[in-house]
Amino acid sequence: MTERWDAIVIGAGHNGLTCAAYLGRAGRKVLVLERSSTVGGMAGMRRFAEGCSVPGCAHLLYHLNPRVVADLELQSHGLRLAASHLPTVALDENGGHLTLTERSVDGPGISPQQRAVYAAFMDRLRRFAAVLAAAGETRPPRLVSDQWRDYLTLAALGWKVWQLGRDDMRELMRIGAINIFDVLQEEFDNPLLKGALCLDAVLGTHMGPRSPNTVLNFLHRLAGQTGAGVAVADGGMQGVISALERAAVARGVEIRVNTAASRIVTDADGVTGVELASGELLACRMVLSSADPKTTFQRLLGPQVLDTGFNRRIHNLRMRGTAAKLHLALRGAPAFRGLDAAALGGRLLIAPSPDYIELAFDAAKYGAGSEHPAMEITIPTVHTRALAPAGMHVLSAVVQYAPAGLRGGWSADAKAGFMERILTQLARYAPGIREQIVSAELLTPADLEAEYGVTGGHWHHGELALDQFMMLRPVPGAAQYAAPIPGLYLCGAGAHPGGGVSGTPGRNAAQAALAGGLRR
Ligand SMILES: Cc1cc2nc3c(=O)[nH]c(=O)nc-3n(C[C@H](O)[C@H](O)[C@H](O)COP(=O)(O)OP(=O)(O)OC[C@H]3O[C@@H](n4cnc5c(N)ncnc54)[C@H](O)[C@@H]3O)c2cc1C
Repeated sequence: MTERWDAIVIGAGHNGLTCAAYLGRAGRKVLVLERSSTVGGMAGMRRFAEGCSVPGCAHLLYHLNPRVVADLELQSHGLRLAASHLPTVALDENGGHLTLTERSVDGPGISPQQRAVYAAFMDRLRRFAAVLAAAGETRPPRLVSDQWRDYLTLAALGWKVWQLGRDDMRELMRIGAINIFDVLQEEFDNPLLKGALCLDAVLGTHMGPRSPNTVLNFLHRLAGQTGAGVAVADGGMQGVISALERAAVARGVEIRVNTAASRIVTDADGVTGVELASGELLACRMVLSSADPKTTFQRLLGPQVLDTGFNRRIHNLRMRGTAAKLHLALRGAPAFRGLDAAALGGRLLIAPSPDYIELAFDAAKYGAGSEHPAMEITIPTVHTRALAPAGMHVLSAVVQYAPAGLRGGWSADAKAGFMERILTQLARYAPGIREQIVSAELLTPADLEAEYGVTGGHWHHGELALDQFMMLRPVPGAAQYAAPIPGLYLCGAGAHPGGGVSGTPGRNAAQAALAGGLRR
C-alpha cells in the first residue's frame, strides 16, 4: 500500500457520490470505487436499444433532499427539473381514467364528497409523512445511550409527534401499524382510486396491500414529496447523477469506474484499506460502503471479523426484490385508450383495484410471477426528447410482482413468459402497443442483482418495515451508519432512512463519519 486516502467510498450510486462530495467538502481526501463502467448505480441511465436510453431503475424523483441540493450546490452543477408535481393517472381499461394530484382526484364516479375526503386524507398523511421526513434528516438515536445527542434526537422526534396534536397523534398510532388496504377501506369506495393508492404503498416491496408495514411505505414515499412533488430532472435521472458527480469532483473527489472492491481490509484496530478485484491494495483511514448491507458485511468484510449475533441479524435481513423493470423502444407515442396525449408525461398506473394487486402479490408469495402484474409506467421521452431518435419514444415501467427467488429460476423461458403477460396486460390499455415495439428489455430482480450488485435487486437495499427501520435499520449494531468494525460506515439505501433517490443516507453517513473523526 503506497498512497493513503482519508476515505474510500464503495459504489458510485447517487448515495456514494453524495457521501463522497460531503467528505470532500470537509477537506478529506476521498476515492470512490465503482464496479461498473458508469456512475449512478440504480439511479443511472441505460442504453437498451439502438439510439434509445432509459433510466435503468429509478425513473421518477420523489425524495431528492433539498438540503443535499443546497449543500452541494447541485443547481450550479447543472441540476434542473424538467417537470414537477406530476399527476398520476390511474388507468382504466375502458378509458374511464382517474387523475390524482397531491390534493385532488378527478374522473368518472368520483363524487364531490370523495374529492373532499381525498384532500383531507392526503393532507393528514402528509402531516404524518413530515414527521418521518424530519426523522430522516438525522442519525437515528440509540435507545440506550450515554450520549446527550441521542436523547436530544429522541426528544426532537417526540416533539414533532406531539406537535401533530391529539387527534392526529391518535390516528398515526392507530394506522401506523395496520395495512393500507384497511385504511383505504375506511375512507374510499372507488376501486380504481384505492388501487392507485395501494400501489404507492407496495412499490419496491415484498408486500401486498393487506401486508403490515404498507402504511409506513406509503408515508415514506410521501415524506420526500415536500417541494416538487413527483418530478423529473432535465436529462432524466442522468441530470441528477451528472450534477452529483460534478459536485464531488469539484470538491477534489477521485472516482474510479470499472474498479470493484473485493475485500474490506482490517486489522485488530479496525479498517485499514480496500482490496480490489485486481489484487491491488488501497490504504485508507475509513471505508464508507454504499453496497447493500449483505454485500458489505457477508462478502466484502466477511463473517469471521463480526460476532455471531451480528452475522445472524445480517443473514436474516429481508431483501427479496419483487420489482422488475420493463423498457420498450416504440415507433411513435403509445396510445392508451381514452387518454389525452398531453397526459403521457405523468405517472400512469395499472392497478385497477386493491384486490388486483393483492392477487398479483399472492403469486410472488409462493415464488411465481404475477399472472396479471401491476405497473407504474412513464414515457421519459416526453420530458427528454434526446433519449430516442426522432419519431420514437421509450417506455419505462416498474412491474410487480416478479420475485427474486422465482421457483425454478429466471430462465430465458420464464422471462419470455413473464414478458408476454406484461405485454398482454399493457395491450388491454394501449391496444396498438405491440405493433409499435421496436425493441424490448425486461430486467428481473435477478438481472438487477447482476447489473447493479444489489442483493435480490431490492429497491431499498433491504425491506422498509418497522423491524428494519430507524434505529433498527439495517440491523441493530449498524443503525447509526457506523459498523461494529471501527472505521467502517454504511452510506447507501440499506441505511436510514432507506431507498429512493434522496441522497439522505449518503449525507447522514458522511456526517456520522466526520463526527467520528479520522482514525490513526
Ligand atoms: C425497479 C426499480 C425502480 C425504482 N424506481 C425508483 C423511482 O422511480 N424513484 C426513486 O426515487 N427510487 C426508485 N428506485 C429505488 C432507487 O433506485 C434506489 O433506492 C437508489 O438508487 C439506491 O441508491 P444507492 O446509491 O443507495 O445504491 P445503488 O444505486 O445500488 O448504488 C450502489 C453502487 O455500488 C456499486 N457497487 C456494489 N458493490 C460494489 C463493489 N464491490 N465495488 C465497487 N462498487 C460496488 C454498484 O455498482 C452501484 O453503482 C427503484 C428501484 C428499483 C429496483
